[in-house]
Amino acid sequence: DSADYDSEVDSVCPFCGVGCQVSLKVKDGRIKYVDGIDGPANEGRLCVKGRFGFDYIHHPHRVTKPMIRRDDAPAKGLNVDPANPWTHFREATWDEALDAAASGLGRLRDQHGGKAVAGFGSAKCTNEEAYLFQKLIRQGFGHNNVDHCTRLCHASSVAALMENVGSGAVTATFNQIENADVAIVIGANPVENHPVAATYFKQFAKRGGKLIVMDPRGVGLRRFATHMLQFRPGADVALLNSIMHVIVEEGLYDQQYIDAYTENWEAEKAHLSGFAPEEMEALTGIPATTVREVARAFATAKAGMIFWGMGISQHIHGTDNSRCLISLALMCGHVGRPGTGLHPLRGQNNVQGASDAGLIPMFLPDYQPVTDDGVRSAFSEIWNSGDFSSQKGLTVTEIMDAVHDGQIRGMYILGENPAMSDPDVDHARDALAKLEHLVVQDIFVTETANYADVILPASAFAEKTGTVTNTNRQVQMGRPAVSPPGEAREDWWITVELAKRLGLPWDYKHPSEVFAEMKRGMHSFDNITWERLETQNAVTYPSLSPEDPGQAIVFGDGFPRAEGRARFAPASVIPPDETPDPDYPMILTTGRQLEHWHTGSMTRRSRVLDAVEPEANCSLHPRTLRRLGVTPGGMVRLSTRRGSIRLMARADRAVAEDMVFLPFAYVEAAANILTNPALDPYGKIPEFKFSAVRVEAV
Ligand code: SF4
Repeated sequence: DSADYDSEVDSVCPFCGVGCQVSLKVKDGRIKYVDGIDGPANEGRLCVKGRFGFDYIHHPHRVTKPMIRRDDAPAKGLNVDPANPWTHFREATWDEALDAAASGLGRLRDQHGGKAVAGFGSAKCTNEEAYLFQKLIRQGFGHNNVDHCTRLCHASSVAALMENVGSGAVTATFNQIENADVAIVIGANPVENHPVAATYFKQFAKRGGKLIVMDPRGVGLRRFATHMLQFRPGADVALLNSIMHVIVEEGLYDQQYIDAYTENWEAEKAHLSGFAPEEMEALTGIPATTVREVARAFATAKAGMIFWGMGISQHIHGTDNSRCLISLALMCGHVGRPGTGLHPLRGQNNVQGASDAGLIPMFLPDYQPVTDDGVRSAFSEIWNSGDFSSQKGLTVTEIMDAVHDGQIRGMYILGENPAMSDPDVDHARDALAKLEHLVVQDIFVTETANYADVILPASAFAEKTGTVTNTNRQVQMGRPAVSPPGEAREDWWITVELAKRLGLPWDYKHPSEVFAEMKRGMHSFDNITWERLETQNAVTYPSLSPEDPGQAIVFGDGFPRAEGRARFAPASVIPPDETPDPDYPMILTTGRQLEHWHTGSMTRRSRVLDAVEPEANCSLHPRTLRRLGVTPGGMVRLSTRRGSIRLMARADRAVAEDMVFLPFAYVEAAANILTNPALDPYGKIPEFKFSAVRVEAV
């Protein structure tokens, strides 16, 4: 009822990469409730986070004034009083805080060179904020030490896609599943992590589409699946190669497509000969007959799609996993037509856009390599400044190692929470404590902000203007519905003020000016203007004309690689970095759950969501609990070679008997105290999905 609110504003949900459009209903300067509207990705639908997870923006823990660490504060550490998170900081004016932030980082640059400073931006930033952030690090410090949480999410998927397809984005929107007759969902739990996308998958299955779900956990989509392959953790390459082996052996591949659009097929075919499903059974745990059925179903489909999540990407062989998925789609010719495609389901709401905007150490905007002299000089011209380093910068996890080594001495962190999200998080926390100068820009005193020298109070999604890009490549307009609390400011403004104090000649008055500058260096934004987004809310890239709403499917006539050909990249089986042994006999895997988003900074301050899931928990199979002598709801201790945590255990038949599933949103039992920091060599993504663990009743 419109009498319930004073105004309504259309914007985009801040949580996952689905990018649902929302209408924010405002009463007395506060968001009263949220409705779903007819965006291209959600068609009016919302999940529990989008509908009920907005009130964190009015939480009393919001940082409303700039803060500077008190002279008498104790040594830096995770020492905040939850009832008074500001206890070790004093209020400051904006001028004082910005001067302190800039002089601290500037001093390190002048004394040790720009390489001594690094930046973590955020996949929660708007496109314009992400662009400004990477520009500040590159232009202001002359180096490329800038990254964000894509490193912990789909970096390996993007590495494989860039290498073999020539583009890191999805080849088809998830909504294309309506034109498919077979779909594979692997290493993903969309019912909890991309719930509105999952509604399209369920509808597909209800209409008779063959849904093949593959995951070491019996994830929620299994109820809708024609085939549920609950394979052994870490056996992804063995399973996918055995599926492809059958397709080769039975001659089910699309030779015409392979000849027209691919390269390296003969090498792939030869490599697959060693992966007969009968021989892989012991490794994968999946009967050869099932593998053969799945291979036939996908290869003979008229239109097949593949969706994947972090169960694929977060392994030391994450890039190999994605290489296999790309090969599988290519050999069946399932790319570039309606109902076909490769779709890594993006996690954060703007991880696609932040990556597109160049918030990564090896690429400038639109994935243009920093090592290319022509690319750098084009950006130097757009930025009206001198050259910057041609050396690839350090990634998120490498930056923390470089702090310990004394190479990195200062950081600017916008909206990221590495004190919760990094693997082996005590290593990251020690690094944060060691920094000589840390500037954190956020809406709360996050665990990371505990270590700050200066905290700059930022804006939540409903308080600012800016564009975001979802998993479907849909660029969407976010709009402010309420004012930031107290003296908090929009993030683009804060970064601009910091840049000015670092001596950069920046003069932006509105995010639309930033967007216009981005378009000069980013062809992906061709035909997409700020004005279009203001009136149409969303345009998919690539858009071929000012009237084209954008291309839902790409690469129907070849790939952005040499001769337009995608590449088969054969992948071999690599065991997990650490395997269970008598001391640590079980397998730990981490992830999200429906109600809590990532490190919990927002959703644990959201009344409804926190009420539904108030307590740190892990899930084990009921038989495992019985064996341990733990009743469901009882407490357990989880220990790995990195550390121990204590938390409540829940019974869940979807978890295999030798596994523990652990959400990473809870600071009181932080999952990443336990996780293994071993990295995939290409995507530099940690092995969050496999650690050896001991479980004990307490
Ligand atoms: Fe928000 Fe994702 Fe839920 Fe949509 S599916 S409402 S974008 S959390």
